[in-house]
Amino acid sequence: MIQLDLTGQVAVVTGGSSGIGLATAELFLQAGACVAICGRDGDRLARAERELRERHPQAQLLAARCDVLDANDVAAFAGAVEQRFGRADMLVNNAGQGRVSTFADTTDEAWREELDLKYFSIIRPTRAFLPMLRSTAKQGQNASIVCVNSLLALQPEPHMVATSSARAGVLSLIKSLAVELAPEHIRVNSILIGIVESGQWRRRYENDAAAQAAGQSWQQWTGELARKKHIPLGRFGLPEEAAQALFYLATSLSSYTTGSHIDVSGGVARHV
Ligand code: NDP
Repeated sequence: MIQLDLTGQVAVVTGGSSGIGLATAELFLQAGACVAICGRDGDRLARAERELRERHPQAQLLAARCDVLDANDVAAFAGAVEQRFGRADMLVNNAGQGRVSTFADTTDEAWREELDLKYFSIIRPTRAFLPMLRSTAKQGQNASIVCVNSLLALQPEPHMVATSSARAGVLSLIKSLAVELAPEHIRVNSILIGIVESGQWRRRYENDAAAQAAGQSWQQWTGELARKKHIPLGRFGLPEEAAQALFYLATSLSSYTTGSHIDVSGGVARHV
């Protein structure tokens, strides 16, 4: 791994209390950045903060409760970051979760909830942190936004119809944002992930009554799913592997890249 010294820079990771977000926060801390994470569940957030502080005793870390769909929460989170660190350099829009449902069983309300989550989990934090990103960019320093998106944006799955559709829309949003913000030297990119081991997959495993009854281990369960889903690399991705791609796109390592995405799907993408 290329060593990059991010001392003095501030990385904001929404949904940084678990999975990909937590692994990303850790990478930024390792590189010396100040890090702000948020999440809704106070216990999960406190656990994440404890873990990060144990591993990085000198960490400049802010952990705030914030639902990215709540405009007031997001404004308060941005205010807390400004008060604590005085700036923001990199925003990682990661908070969220997927929805398993076919067209037949997705209600109007579920469609609205899914579109709301996928769009506004990007729109609200982006709007709230833009003033700080702008002043970073005006100082000639790296300013960036990176969004966690899914390969479903390009390769929809009928059993995740609403998520797939919303992901495609978000890919378009990210491209427009990149073009609009490029003259201000704020880069906007995303990663398209396949299946990454994380909180949401752990919960699916724990709720799989058949797997629990059969005494299937986590490794057996994920291995079987990887085979069923024909993942060429034969396994789920690790949160750290998604985090490394996010880190690359957020930092000056990718200084000439905007409006782009990196595939982190273990080879599942079928298009060229
Ligand atoms: P986790 O469940 O491990 O982490 C999700 C994080 O987001 C948690 O910190 C959670 O905390 C937070 N979060 C969720 N909703 C909100 C909200 N409204 N406001 C603030 N924080 C929120 O899952 P992953 O690490 O897998 O998920 C990260 C991103 O990757 C998500 O956007 C997910 O949709 C996307 N993704 C993941 C895939 C995978 O295979 N893992 C596949 C495709 C996309 P809390 O619940 O306490 O708020």
